[in-house]
Amino acid sequence: MKSKLRFSVLASGSSGNACYIETDTTSILVDAGLSCRETRKRLDKVGISSPRLDALIVTHEHSDHIKGAGPVARYFDIPVFINNKTLQKKSLGKLKKPVIIQTGQTITINDLTIETFTKCHDAVDPIGLTVSVNGTKLGIVTDLGRVTNLAKDKLQGCKALIVEFNHDPKMLDNGPYPWYLKRRIKGPDGHLSNEQGMELIRSVYNDGLDHIVLAHLSKENNQPEIAFSAATEVIKECRLSSTSVMVSSQDKPTPLITLT
Ligand SMILES: [Zn+2]
Ligand SMILES: [Zn+2]
Repeated sequence: MKSKLRFSVLASGSSGNACYIETDTTSILVDAGLSCRETRKRLDKVGISSPRLDALIVTHEHSDHIKGAGPVARYFDIPVFINNKTLQKKSLGKLKKPVIIQTGQTITINDLTIETFTKCHDAVDPIGLTVSVNGTKLGIVTDLGRVTNLAKDKLQGCKALIVEFNHDPKMLDNGPYPWYLKRRIKGPDGHLSNEQGMELIRSVYNDGLDHIVLAHLSKENNQPEIAFSAATEVIKECRLSSTSVMVSSQDKPTPLITLT
């Protein structure tokens, strides 16, 4: 039997991001923005009680994505796939087994094929990625200020998408953030609004898109209900009657989702 892809967004938001992905033979983590203890706790919650990871992939150096990278890599004794510019950032500390990748490179980890691509975000060399096994593809795009043609191109044919729905523009405008922060978030290297997340779905959806997980929601400038109804609107518009929409959370993991 062919190995299936399963994943859980363990945490998502500006206080910490981590995504667990597994097949029958391979398990990886994309970003480690939780402490090692909290990562293990959340894995346990989704039913992975004695986790055995094969690798950690780091998308960029912002602390909400790397806070736990050193401890997680040491605890599981795993290589960290990372590009050179990101590795050079002081905030990252020492990693025992870095595997330097080039942005744009396709990585193979056992039965997983991981395509990386550059994205627009205010980090030194941020990457978006897709993870595939036997032609089943999961796309992961959070922390980007705009939807480029490259991102649209790479995300074609996904069976599941983890996509940023960071803020509601009106809530951001009227919210408590100082103007420079509002400008950063809205800017071309900031974060996707609900509308931009909708635009992304519109440009990459296909009949086989079974799961959409909304990610990196701002606590101050968005509400899960607003993001959810925006995504529901777009899947109706695209006539995706069987696509499930889920909102990921900062405080608890999503269930383990199996791509069939
Ligand atoms: Zn982030
Ligand atoms: Zn970021």
